[in-house]
Amino acid sequence: MNSNVLIVGSTALDSIKTPRAENPRLLGGSASHAAVAASFFAPVKLVGVVGEDFPPRYLRFYRERGIDLTGLQFAPGKTFHWAGEYEINMNNRRTLRTELGVLADFNPQLPVSYQHAPYVLLANLAPAVQHHVLRQLRRPRFVVADTMDLWLNVARADLLKLLKHVDGFVLNDSEARQLVKEDNVVLATRRIHRLGPKYVIVKKGEHGAILSSPSGLFVCPAFPLEKVVDPTGAGDSFVGGLLGYLASKGGALETALRRGMIYGTVVASFCCEGFGLQRTARLDRRAIEQRVRQLEKLTRF
Ligand code: AMP
Repeated sequence: MNSNVLIVGSTALDSIKTPRAENPRLLGGSASHAAVAASFFAPVKLVGVVGEDFPPRYLRFYRERGIDLTGLQFAPGKTFHWAGEYEINMNNRRTLRTELGVLADFNPQLPVSYQHAPYVLLANLAPAVQHHVLRQLRRPRFVVADTMDLWLNVARADLLKLLKHVDGFVLNDSEARQLVKEDNVVLATRRIHRLGPKYVIVKKGEHGAILSSPSGLFVCPAFPLEKVVDPTGAGDSFVGGLLGYLASKGGALETALRRGMIYGTVVASFCCEGFGLQRTARLDRRAIEQRVRQLEKLTRF
């Protein structure tokens, strides 16, 4: 089957500090993490923008993964740069710097070859820009949007407009509470459905994720890791892996979504085992399948 996946989001240089190490200007961004994760399952078309300082080796890396870069814009100026620092528990993260650079004026125009993509991920980006991409699509089969707390604070109205037009919405538990002012995550998903999306996925970091859909709830554990090196991009890897899996399967959405959550979880777990995309870059489908089987064993009863 293997339909295309279109992914729009940030393509970034990430400077990441953990209690053990510091790594400047790694390949990052919501679209990069999601695109690489999806590329293990389906052909990926990337939409993003980079500046003059974007290292050619990162472009080579996308290409080696077979990612279509027709929709990647090259603009005069600097690439979006995000710097963050993790606390000793590796869960709490502080943003040290956000330098928008060329992302500030990002106005994506989809190449004609992208407009019929059936599976679409509107990865973390200003909701108005996500919406602008959505309007250029011709009858997509499944559109899922991701977001972050920043947009709930500064672009809430745009986000609410967007939510009326997407099939799925992915957010983390604190964002879900913030969006609908409901502490209980299960009740929060019900309120989020009323905003538009038929499928709501709430990520709970090391505690897994919940899918709420017309046929009820599905709970997906996280893969228990002994060592977390850098969780940056885990959320994006989760949703990228999920969508890539869906595109590779087609068929009944509900069944594929549940399995897709498991595959997304597994790719996200690998992402956490290295800085930036370093561990994911060395991954292959066999290692993914092996960890899926391990997760199945861990949850069977
Ligand atoms: P995650 O760890 O899944 O929340 O995603 C982290 C990624 O989000 C990093 O690679 C950052 O480059 C990217 N990011 C951080 N802030 C923003 C922002 N304001 N807009 C788009 N992407 C962002």
